[in-house]
Amino acid sequence: MYNIKSKKAEEFIDNQEILDTIAYAEENKNNETLIDEIITRAGDFKGLSHREAAVLLACELEDQNKRLVILAQEIKKKLYGNRIVMFAPLYLSNYCVNGCVYCPYHHKNTTIKRKQLSQAEIVKEVIALQDMGHKRLALETGEDPVNCPLEYVLESIKTIYSIKHKNGDIRRVNVNIAATTVENYRRLKDAGIGTYILFQETYHKENYEMLHPTGPKHNYAWHTEAMDRAMEGGIDDVGIGVLFGLNTYRYDFVGMLMHAEHLEAAMGVGPHTISVPRICPADDIDTNDFSNAISNEVFEKIVTVLRIAVPYTGMIVSTRESQASRERVLKLGISQISGGSCTSVGGYDHPEPEDENSSQFDVTDTRKLDDIVNWLLEMGHIPSFCTACYREGRTGDRFMQLAKSGQIVNCCQPNAIMTLKEYLEDYASADTKAKGEVMIQRELQSIPDDKVRAIATGHLTQLSAGKRDFRF
Ligand code: SF4
Ligand code: SF4
Repeated sequence: MYNIKSKKAEEFIDNQEILDTIAYAEENKNNETLIDEIITRAGDFKGLSHREAAVLLACELEDQNKRLVILAQEIKKKLYGNRIVMFAPLYLSNYCVNGCVYCPYHHKNTTIKRKQLSQAEIVKEVIALQDMGHKRLALETGEDPVNCPLEYVLESIKTIYSIKHKNGDIRRVNVNIAATTVENYRRLKDAGIGTYILFQETYHKENYEMLHPTGPKHNYAWHTEAMDRAMEGGIDDVGIGVLFGLNTYRYDFVGMLMHAEHLEAAMGVGPHTISVPRICPADDIDTNDFSNAISNEVFEKIVTVLRIAVPYTGMIVSTRESQASRERVLKLGISQISGGSCTSVGGYDHPEPEDENSSQFDVTDTRKLDDIVNWLLEMGHIPSFCTACYREGRTGDRFMQLAKSGQIVNCCQPNAIMTLKEYLEDYASADTKAKGEVMIQRELQSIPDDKVRAIATGHLTQLSAGKRDFRF
């Protein structure tokens, strides 16, 4: 029985509610009056229920679909401005006891090279990432209590925050590790993590169990209830996502929104971010084995409707997507992207030899960070290396209140300008620097508040003089 506030996975992700929602959406996919009503109401930027969003996702009316795109773009512009937050994944260990059939780290894969970074190797990786210009990382590990215990992750976080190479500084460490206990989440919180990220992969319990045949991850309830435990452990910002292509996209789209609604209803705050990875090739993984893989068109529609349904949740796309694909979804609602990424263990410091593949998936957008910054500037986006909110205590419901009142943009824009300036001073190529300076001058003039503009201008002067790390 569907119960949004229940602590049980099968009640807040009720299978029948998802099936009924999909049926309702199918019945109404050409219902002009209803669709018009939903789109008009979504214009208040307050988001939509999973049922309403499912109808929009199924909508077959061309005119209404065009309206959806325009609305998603409007929401993106009003709530996020034109900043795009940058991050990089850092793979610490690919030992894994689970049997996930879509991931090359599954424990039966003998062709992949197993690695775990020592603290000395982490220092090298982080210096390489700092030298690219990154300030925000997402830590990735497989699940292995023996080879990769929580103590190792905690020690690694401490190491990462301690490294200051030249003007480099990792200021926010997000963590993507396996579902764990409330006590362990508390320890992660105490270690100063930003967002705790855990992808559901699929919300369809039966398929979930088939896709995760062995290991602790096989337990659907333990995995699905992880965000509740993380929040109980004091982690305010959580990031959810599914791996589109594992199951039918409509089912997982609805399940993901129900998860977001549950977190808001039961824990007082919805997810901080939603990621939208889709299945892609990797060692030992053939995408042809996944008949639910989604087309570009469907992928873009998902991003569009998510932007409208959960306006205040950041949306992330990784280098799994190509340059062209990222270009399209950036316009529709993506607010955060990775760049210059390496998905192998230890690959930033030195590239892996051909016969030592330890990567989780094949990167499609293989450009360097500077090329990505340059490309974003050319498209009129401000690449932002901002990490201010969690360092200023703007997390959880405090962040959501500022986001919902529209005030957060007053921080995002000047912070984007100032962190871009740091990047230009320390890491950019001459061409990127020239484009970035033009962007900074333009953006500075468009800061609406005189006082904020004056402070930001002062900080820019100090940044040029060698000072670092200003934030609103
Ligand atoms: S998806 Fe995660 S848990 Fe599953 S095999 Fe890969 S690393 Fe391990
Ligand atoms: S001010 Fe906060 S919400 Fe805005 S970009 Fe920075 S960290 Fe993100």
